[in-house]
Amino acid sequence: MPSRSDVVDQHTFRARLVLDAAQRAASYVAESRERDVFPTEQALRDLAGFPRELADEPVPASEVLAMLDELGSPATVVSTGGRYFGFVNGGADPAASAAAVLVSAWDQNVALPVMSPVAALLDELAGRWSCQLLGLPGTAIAAFCSGASIANLTCILAARDALLRRAGWSVERRGLAGAPRLRVVASAEIHASVEKALRAAGFGTDDVTSAPTDDCGRVLVEEFPSVDDRTLVLLQAGNVNTGHSDPFRQIIPSVHDNGGWVHVDGAFGLWAAASDTQRHRVDGVDLADSWATDGHKWLNAPYDSGIAICRDPADLRRAMAFDAAYFATDAERAAAHLGLQMSQRARGAEIWAILASHGRRGIAELVDRLCAHAKRMADLLDAAGARILIPTALNQVLVQFDNDQTTDAVIAAVQADRTCWAGGTRWHGHRAMRISICDSATTSTDIETAAHAILRCWRTCKDA
Ligand SMILES: *Cc1c(COP(=O)(O)O)cnc(C)c1O
Repeated sequence: MPSRSDVVDQHTFRARLVLDAAQRAASYVAESRERDVFPTEQALRDLAGFPRELADEPVPASEVLAMLDELGSPATVVSTGGRYFGFVNGGADPAASAAAVLVSAWDQNVALPVMSPVAALLDELAGRWSCQLLGLPGTAIAAFCSGASIANLTCILAARDALLRRAGWSVERRGLAGAPRLRVVASAEIHASVEKALRAAGFGTDDVTSAPTDDCGRVLVEEFPSVDDRTLVLLQAGNVNTGHSDPFRQIIPSVHDNGGWVHVDGAFGLWAAASDTQRHRVDGVDLADSWATDGHKWLNAPYDSGIAICRDPADLRRAMAFDAAYFATDAERAAAHLGLQMSQRARGAEIWAILASHGRRGIAELVDRLCAHAKRMADLLDAAGARILIPTALNQVLVQFDNDQTTDAVIAAVQADRTCWAGGTRWHGHRAMRISICDSATTSTDIETAAHAILRCWRTCKDA
């Protein structure tokens, strides 16, 4: 046992460092709106200041923290300042960001309720409230994980095991070799992370039938492949390029009539269900059997944060629970038995902080606000003569400038300009700038400033 003075020392020391870190973090947050969205060349050069060799002797933690802040902070991509529109990267919700500071000091493992009664309670509340906000069935259970990739994998494993179980095959006992063959019907536009999850779950590309999609990336009802009781159907709420969602109400009931399972990847788009004005975009999504979504995208939870949801908790439990005497629990809900991880940080506490501080109306307003910003951005670019490739849905804007070549030049110029940041993509044969509005800190002024910067870069490319 350490002596009493060692214990006091370590705690006093840690408290002092945490305070130092909090002050540095507060300065970072305060300056983030004014900063270049992407690190300057100088800040990138200064990364050379991080020693490349592991030190032999200890270095005081305060010096390590100072180095992290002085060299690291300027070299961050400011995805929380309001003008970062890359990928679908969410910003930092104030309540969650602050809760994360406290929760990281707690350092709780939420695997079993006995490891942390408070983390288990917040996990349970955050899960239940999320399902309610998303309009999902009252039976559904939500489990937190590191992101939609893992949430997709978790749900696909639950679906696979449930479909095989109904076919009289226990995966737990007999594994997959020799099991009845399952088929997967997936939207032609399914996200790459779902393809990766399928591979991890034992499905190859030969097992997958692609469902054709329309100009906006929605599956076509009239061309939807036939399904049976050994079919896993994969749909999506919120295409990663277009923001459009599949016509759930026209597809899910017939899949169910034939005994199939429907999983929905709704990494960001599922949150449309939390808003009265956007809910129609995901009409019928509540009819599915499982759903994956992110905390770190639309909700602006700290990285990383995802949610796996199953209509029937027993399906998730059967796929995820494990037998270990020292991990046995009578608890109704134990995170370790609902997901792939055993030990895990208290992600639910951060989601709880977001939902507790916003309430139902606040979340609906957050959804509406980001959609309105996307619409405004599209309108400003359209009015200046840029080509909006498809009708803007949710928080995604796809825009082309003159032609493929100029579009790529504008994207490069915008990234070098650093007023805002947007990436590129290809949509149905056209290069496009992809503008994803996912930071709750974004204001109308940010949208105007960013649109002007983009248009200025376009003019420069035209003149060149
Ligand atoms: C982001 C995204 C994913 C992957 O989520 P991660 O949180 O990055 O693992 C899956 N599907 C869609 C539609 C996404 O937008």
